Parts: sequence; structure tokens; C-alpha cells
Amino acid sequence: MQLFPGAEILELPMQGFGGTSVVHPVLLMGEEGATLVDTGFPGQGAALDTALQAHGLTMAEIDRVILTHQDIDHIGNLPALAAGRATVLAHSAEAPYIEGRERLLKFNPERMQRMLERMPEAAQAQFRNLMSNPPKAQVDVLLEDGEELPLYGGIRIIHTPGHTPGHISLYFPKHRTLISGDAMRVVNGQLEGPGPEVTPDMDLAHASLAKVPKDVEYILCYHGGLFGPGAARRLAEIAG
Ligand SMILES: [Zn+2]
Repeated sequence: MQLFPGAEILELPMQGFGGTSVVHPVLLMGEEGATLVDTGFPGQGAALDTALQAHGLTMAEIDRVILTHQDIDHIGNLPALAAGRATVLAHSAEAPYIEGRERLLKFNPERMQRMLERMPEAAQAQFRNLMSNPPKAQVDVLLEDGEELPLYGGIRIIHTPGHTPGHISLYFPKHRTLISGDAMRVVNGQLEGPGPEVTPDMDLAHASLAKVPKDVEYILCYHGGLFGPGAARRLAEIAG
């Protein structure tokens, strides 16, 4: 599904870890090459490959990966992409986690224990293995709030902390479109703030919503997909 000309919303379905989920990385294409925004869960490599093939690409041909943040469902296929020719971009506050120098923030032992207890035994072993060996790669370019990347007609980096400390959203002013990462979700067709159970600082996350430009028409959420046109009106309600 097209987000705007040159930008495709990918849909990666996955079974496991106690449920079915679909996540939405974005593929940007142009004379600047191919850029992927977020990479799916570990184990979604085949689904990502298939989604890229639909646009005539393979993982090895991705030139750039922009990560909205460090969570496992966003960095899952990062190692495979970085092993190709992809340059990795992320906010400076996320780099220590993505590079494996710090433990992923959501991988804290108490939370992991609670998740393990709810899983079937076969999934537990797989999950333990993932916890002790999470995906990682070097971050080549550190991004900061307000930065404008001269790619695909212009990408504005908006630091939207709360869900994680270095969470970013990407704004495309020319298309009045925001890639929100997990700063927002679409739930039952409605735009909502981030999930409280996976957002350590809800106050900060809420304050971050006010940084989104007021002329936004479309918001693409990694969880839940596309919301819009007219996203600004609903955003004003939830950012209140
Ligand atoms: Zn996520």
C-alpha cells in the first residue's frame, strides 16, 4: 500500500510470543536509493524479503535503515540489513542499545519473567535465546531533534521520547505525512497515543505529541497502520 509516491507501507504478519501481530515498516525509494524505516521482529526475515521482492528489492539492496527506536519489533532484522550495504541511522540516545553496549530497555528481567510465564514451553526457549543474544548493529549516523535529511523531498527528524528515550518520528512536510513509530497507534481504526503497558514514561510520551506539525494529514503507525486524511484534528484531541 502506498503512503505517498515513492513510499510503500509494508505489512509483516507474525505468529508467536503469545499472539498474532502485523507491523508496518516503510520502504522509501528514489534516486537516493532504497531506505527502510524499521525492520520487523526477529523471525520476520522471510516476510520482509517477500515484501521487498514485491518492489523488486532484496535485503542486500537496502541502502539505508532509519530506526524509530530500539524495541525488538523494530530492530529484528537489522543485523541482516547491516550485513548488506545498509547505513544505519538512529537517534543518539538509542545508539548504545542498538549497538548492544547497553541492555535493551524493555528487556528488563522482571518484565521478561512475566512474559515468559505466559508463554508455551517451546516459545520460552526461543525467547530466552533472543534475550541473551538480541539483534544489534553499529549505528553509522546519529540523528538529533529538528534535523532535516535531504532525502525523498525532505525528512524532518522529530525527537518524540517517552516510549523510549531516543524515540523519533519522521515528518515529510511535502506530503504532510508522519511516520510515528510507536509514539502513536491505530486501534480499531482510531488514532491513539502509545500503549501504556509498553511506554515507561507516559507523561513524556504525551508531551511529545505536541511536537508533531499541526498541518499533518496522514500518520502511519507501526502498530495499526495508516490514519488520515485529517489526522491533525484527532491528534489535537489526543495531544490535548
Ligand atoms: Zn513497536
